[in-house]
Amino acid sequence: MSKIILTGDRPTGRLHVGHYVGSLKRRVELQNSGEYDDIFIMIADAQALTDNADNPEKVRQNIIEVALDYLSCGLDPQISTLFIQSQIPELCELSFYYMNLVTVSRLQRNPTVKSEIQMRNFETSIPVGFFTYPISQAADITAFKATTVPVGEDQLPMLEQTKEIVRKFNMVYDDVLVEPDILLPDNKACLRLPGTDGKAKMSKSLNNCIYLSDSEDEVKKKIMSMFTDPNHIRVEDPGQVEGNPVFIYLDAFSKPEHFAEYLPDYQNLQELKDHYSRGGLGDVKIKKFLNNVLQEELAPIRARRKEFEKDIPAIYEILKKGSEKAEAVAAQTLADVKRAMKINYFDDMELIQAQAKKFSQE
Ligand code: ATP
Ligand code: MG
Repeated sequence: MSKIILTGDRPTGRLHVGHYVGSLKRRVELQNSGEYDDIFIMIADAQALTDNADNPEKVRQNIIEVALDYLSCGLDPQISTLFIQSQIPELCELSFYYMNLVTVSRLQRNPTVKSEIQMRNFETSIPVGFFTYPISQAADITAFKATTVPVGEDQLPMLEQTKEIVRKFNMVYDDVLVEPDILLPDNKACLRLPGTDGKAKMSKSLNNCIYLSDSEDEVKKKIMSMFTDPNHIRVEDPGQVEGNPVFIYLDAFSKPEHFAEYLPDYQNLQELKDHYSRGGLGDVKIKKFLNNVLQEELAPIRARRKEFEKDIPAIYEILKKGSEKAEAVAAQTLADVKRAMKINYFDDMELIQAQAKKFSQE
């Protein structure tokens, strides 16, 4: 069986370091491994509109930002198909048919959707499109017969929902859809990177992000004013490592060789954590170290972005070509789906002839 990747991001803002460790970095590694037959990377503008219906300009402006982030992180349009969700109408058709296979109460139980509804204060005014986005995500994944979906932990419930739809579809109709596997980051700190404010998730919607395209100064400023342990007031005080976002970022980004380079008093992260827990290590020192580590990772991304920014029309061309290729694949799956669902009337000669016979005998 072919190995196929589908994943993507909502164009609701530039991409941040949470996206990077949660999914983007892995995608580039998978792309470069050469082990996949096809890689589809989707800019999920239709999904972004489900909670930004009144702000289409925001979604429109961020398409190019996300595409620039992709390219500057190393996604290569020669290998990976970069495309825009709304340009593939087949995805809407698939969603519409999958809706019959999902109950309202099943959607209501989705923990990610639940917390997102709370976060957006939708409460009693949840747009139907937003409520049903897990179904549209199932359409995105299955349209490309994806076997592997590299995403952050918040996407687990979406993958579960997709698997259920696949099983139900294949059971009720015919064995057409492929059950995908989620590929979570190996590093626990990367599953759900917290925000600079200490909130559980770095998220565009929460304004607590370090963006891949932030300038060196912006990154430094954000790090130096990061939330740490609020009880660690004086340097001598014992500090809390657990749940401290500075240490979680260090778990996500630091490598042993960073210590020799930027903080030679310590051999490794464990020694630094131990010192912080004992007391006698100030926040400024660990933040400066984190800044060095992060700047090293972000500098080449920033530099490549500057290059890609010089030819914006070429990037739209990449997205157009990618969308054309993606549409052809999705159209094939939709044809398979419609055949399985018996709504392929015009290319079913058997049906037409059988009915012709039936009526001629009456
Ligand atoms: P929004 O606030 O608009 O939902 P977002 O920051 O949650 O934006 P998405 O576009 O919804 O970003 O997510 C894109 C991908 O990045 C998903 O695979 C998601 O799991 C992953 N991701 C997003 N935020 C984080 C994070 N803080 N840590 C790890 N992975 C993340
Ligand atoms: Mg999100």
